[in-house]
This record gives sequence, C-alpha cells and structure tokens, in this order.
Amino acid sequence: MHFLEQLEPIMREVIAPNATTTDAHAAYPRQALQALGQAGLLGLISSTDVGGLGLGLPEAVQVVERIAQDCPCTAMVLTMHYCGTVYIEQLGGKDVRQAIAAGRHITTLAVSETATRSHIWAMTSQAQMQAADTVLISGEKSMITSAGQADSYVWTTRAMQGEGNTLWLLNAKDPGFSVPRAFDGLGLRGNHSAPISAQAVPTALSSRLGADGQAEPLKAQYLMPYFATLIATTSIGLMQGILRRAITHISTSRFAESGTSLADLPTIRAYLAKAHLRADQARLLRDDTVAAVQAARLDKGMRLLLVKAAAAEAALEVSDTAMRICGGAAFRKELGIERLFRDARAACVMAPTSDVLFDKIGTLLCATPTP
Ligand SMILES: Cc1cc2nc3c(=O)[nH]c(=O)nc-3n(C[C@H](O)[C@H](O)[C@H](O)COP(=O)(O)OP(=O)(O)OC[C@H]3O[C@@H](n4cnc5c(N)ncnc54)[C@H](O)[C@@H]3O)c2cc1C
Repeated sequence: MHFLEQLEPIMREVIAPNATTTDAHAAYPRQALQALGQAGLLGLISSTDVGGLGLGLPEAVQVVERIAQDCPCTAMVLTMHYCGTVYIEQLGGKDVRQAIAAGRHITTLAVSETATRSHIWAMTSQAQMQAADTVLISGEKSMITSAGQADSYVWTTRAMQGEGNTLWLLNAKDPGFSVPRAFDGLGLRGNHSAPISAQAVPTALSSRLGADGQAEPLKAQYLMPYFATLIATTSIGLMQGILRRAITHISTSRFAESGTSLADLPTIRAYLAKAHLRADQARLLRDDTVAAVQAARLDKGMRLLLVKAAAAEAALEVSDTAMRICGGAAFRKELGIERLFRDARAACVMAPTSDVLFDKIGTLLCATPTP
C-alpha cells in the first residue's frame, strides 16, 4: 500500500481526533507514534536493508505536511525523529537502525543549550574520556522535543580535542539524564520540549556519530536538507490546516439580517486570498528546495537557508489572518484555529531562528559579487 494511504486512517482515527487533547493536556502523542510505527512510517527514511521503507526527503515532506494540517505537534515530533534518523542511518549501528525501521524506537535532536541559547553552533556540553572506551557526557540542553520520551538523543557536545563539535547517539534511559521541569508551552504543547540535564552520563566511545569535531560538516552534509525542509513543512501543513478551517467557518457563518455569509464580504475574501498566496509561496519554495536537494543544484545551500525562514514567517502572518477573518469565534477552542495560531509561533524561534537566518542570508548576498 502507498505510504500516504497508510497514513490516512491514522489521521482519521488517531491524530486528528486526539489533537485537541494533545494540546489541552500537553500530552505526548504516544498513540499517534505507535500507530505511525506500526504502519512503517517511523521507518519511512530507513533503508530497506534494515527493514525500513527506503524512502527519502520528498516522501518525508508529504507525511509531515499531511500530519501538520491537523496536529503540528505530532508533525514536529516526527520531524525531529526523522532528523535524528538521518544521522543514525549514515553513522549509527545496525541494531538501532533496525529498531527505528521497525517502529520501536523514537529519536530526537538534542542541540540547543541553556548557556548558549539559540546559538546552536556554540556548545558547552562536554564529553570527557573516563577509560579507554568510555566517555562521560555532561551538559544542559534547553528545550528538546521528546525530552524524557524519546528512546535516544542525538546529542551535540564540544569536540573532545581541538575545535568544533561532536555528535553522540545516547540512550535516553541511561541514568544521569533528567528532565528538570516539564514543558508547559504556548503551542506545540504535546511536544515535551523540555530541558534535559546530563550529569556525567557514562557512554561507550563507540556511540559517537562520526569523528570528533566533525558535527558541523556532518550537519551540513546529512541533516540540513531534512531539518530545514521538514521544519518548514510543519509550518506549511499548519497553514493549509488553518486556512481549511477558516474557509469552512467563513463559508458557513451567516448574518441573520441578510442571510449572507462572512465569505460574502469582499474584505474577508481578499484577506483569505492574500493568506492563501503567502502559504502557497512558501509551499512552492519548499518544493523547489526539495528539487534543489534532489538534483544537488548549486543554489541548494541558499534554498535551505531561505525555506525555513520563509515558511515560519508566512505561518505567523497566515495564522494572524485566520484569527482576524474568523473574528471572535476563532478565540474559542472549537474551531481549532487558536490552537494552530499558537502552534504557528514556534518555528520562527526554533534555531536557527528566522533572525539568525536573515542575517546569514543577507551576509551571503552581500558577499556574492554582482554581475
Ligand atoms: C517548540 C519548540 C521545540 C524545540 N525543539 C528543539 C529540539 O528538539 N532540539 C533542540 O536542540 N532545540 C529545540 N528547541 C530550541 C530552539 O531550537 C531554540 O534554541 C530556542 O527556541 C531558542 O530560545 P531562546 O529563548 O534561547 O532564544 P534566544 O537565543 O534568547 O533568542 C531570543 C531572540 O533573539 C534573536 N537572536 C538570538 N541570536 C541572534 C543573532 N545572533 N542574530 C539575530 N537575532 C538573534 C532570536 O531570533 C530571538 O528572536 C525548540 C524550541 C521550541 C520553541
């Protein structure tokens, strides 16, 4: 069966009906992840050699986009799982790859730190040699999706020697990890994006992903195509979901004195059209970014910088518009619009934040000689 056909019943029976509870109770979407695992979708990008579906970025984009239309929170948890999986597929051991492919293992990226905030290139976490084959991992991560829920963390430390950062695949159940406080956020409330403290967690040197000090080049090579595109896709699916709800509301809400609907107002239709345009521009840029990645085009690097910022900023505007055109009704929970409005606030402050990306893009533009 096609992977999207596998997803539809899960959307209908689990993810969409549970989305409001996930939000209201800040409940981790465990049931959704179990269903996705059973359908093979947690192993979507795992190689067929280890029992995965052997698919790639274009298909991951379709799955995340569909889920984000109804539950951006589940879409973000899955995004982080796919991002960790990208590293593990390239650099990890067969056992964990098989567990991911079989839907028995959730992973996530543990990068952002309390001390260095959204400057994710500046790590303070450390890995210190304890014995010939053991290191001790220490550090304070600030806001990690699936904290205390994932089976493993793809954890970034400073290099053990010299410059740069280093990647580790850590067993999240190891003693020494703790989640000092629960996540009680504005949006994406079921994400469990909580701090994680690592107090001298002993781990085998063999759990290092790649060579010491090589995290940044590995990130550019393996992670960024997935990370930038899939975070953008959570915003894109979210915009589709919020506009779908807004269209239903404005088309069916009538003024008793005239019998006309909100959608009969030209101002409302114009707001809707502009919001649709913004959402579609982000989607087209995302599609072109995927094409650039797949074809290894020369503009791939710039596309990957643009795509997350474009979609995150568009989601802020589009969700504002949805709130405006649906009036006071949108303030109430039952339309689902205020939930998506709150969820839409996250992507622009997830590192690299929109502001950091703007700075990078502007710097690159100024450094490029004009013809
Ligand atoms: C829902 C959610 C889920 C998350 N999940 C994960 C996860 O799974 N893994 C993970 O590693 N992290 C995760 N994060 C953390 C995220 O990546 C950022 O590190 C975090 O949101 C930054 O918050 P802060 O308060 O430290 O921001 P700050 O760094 O204090 O930024 C505050 C403001 O300053 C701006 N700013 C900061 N530095 C610069 C600069 N150099 N130039 C211009 N402007 C700048 C920012 O854009 C922002 O507007 C998550 C965050 C959220 C909200």
